[in-house]
Amino acid sequence: MIELRDVTFRYPRSKNPALMDVSLKIGDGEFVGILGPSGSGKSTLALTLNGIIPNSIRGAFSGEVIVRDPKTGKTFKTTETPVSKLSTLVGLVLQNPESQLFNMTVEDEVAFALENLGLPREEIAERVEWALKVVGLGGLENEFPPNLSGGEKQRLAIASVIAMKPSHLILDEPTSQLDPKGKREVLRVVEELNRAGTTVVMVEHDSRFLFRKADRLVVLNGGRVILQGTPREVAERV
Ligand code: ADP
Ligand code: ADP
Repeated sequence: MIELRDVTFRYPRSKNPALMDVSLKIGDGEFVGILGPSGSGKSTLALTLNGIIPNSIRGAFSGEVIVRDPKTGKTFKTTETPVSKLSTLVGLVLQNPESQLFNMTVEDEVAFALENLGLPREEIAERVEWALKVVGLGGLENEFPPNLSGGEKQRLAIASVIAMKPSHLILDEPTSQLDPKGKREVLRVVEELNRAGTTVVMVEHDSRFLFRKADRLVVLNGGRVILQGTPREVAERV
C-alpha cells in the first residue's frame, strides 16, 4: 500500500506547485492508472510515490507519503527512509529506457542493482534469470543493451526494476518511445506482473489501455486530483 496525505510539492524556482493537496491510497495488488494533460503533475506524482521526491529531487514538499511493505506489514514514511530502501519496495520505470541502462551486457544490467544490494551470488543469478524470463528476454543475456530494439530496451529496464522484487511498480509512460509492437510487448508484461500480485501505478498516454485494464483511474489537472474512480465511473464523468 502507498498512501499520500495532503501532498504538495513545488520544484525549486517554480512559481506553482506541481502537486497540490494530493491525497491518494493505492491498495495492495491494485492497478491504478494516472491520467491528465501534459504538465498536470503525472511524472511528479510518479517520482513522489518512490521517494525520489523529495529525497533526491528537492523542493518545497509538505504532506506525507507512507509505503507499507505487504510482506512484513511495516510502514515507512518516504521522508524518513533512504531511497535505496524504498527502491526495494517501490520500483520506478521511466519513459526513456536509455536513461536507466548503463552496463555492457543485458545480464550485467539486471545484476547491477542486485550487486549493490549485496545479495549472494546464487540469488543474483536466480533473480536475473527470472526477471529476464518474465519480460521475454531469456536468451539475450550476453547482448549489448544499445543493440536491443526500443521495446526490448524498455523490457530490460522493467527486468532491472522487478529483479529488486518491489511489491509496487510505478511506470511513467513506459511505451511512449516505442513502436506498436514494442508497446504491446511492454503492456503485456505490465498486465502479467499485476496479475501475479504486483501493485501497479501507471502513467500511460494510451488511455484506452488504462480504461480497459486499470482497476482505478486517477485524473490530475493543475497538480490536483480532479477525479478518481473505476474506469466506468470516470468514463461517465468526463
Ligand atoms: P506531466 O507528467 O503531467 O506532464 P509534470 O509532473 O512533468 O507533468 O509537471 C508538472 C508541472 O511541474 C509542470 O508545470 C512542469 O513544468 C513542472 N515541472 C516538472 N519538472 C520540473 C522541474 N524539474 N523543475 C521545474 N518544474 C518542473
Ligand atoms: P512529461 O513527458 O512527463 O510531460 P516533460 O516533457 O514535461 O515530461 O518534462 C521532461 C523533463 O523536463 C522532465 O525531467 C521534467 O522534470 C523536466 N521539466 C519539465 N518542466 C520543467 C520546467 N518547467 N523546468 C525545468 N525542468 C522541467
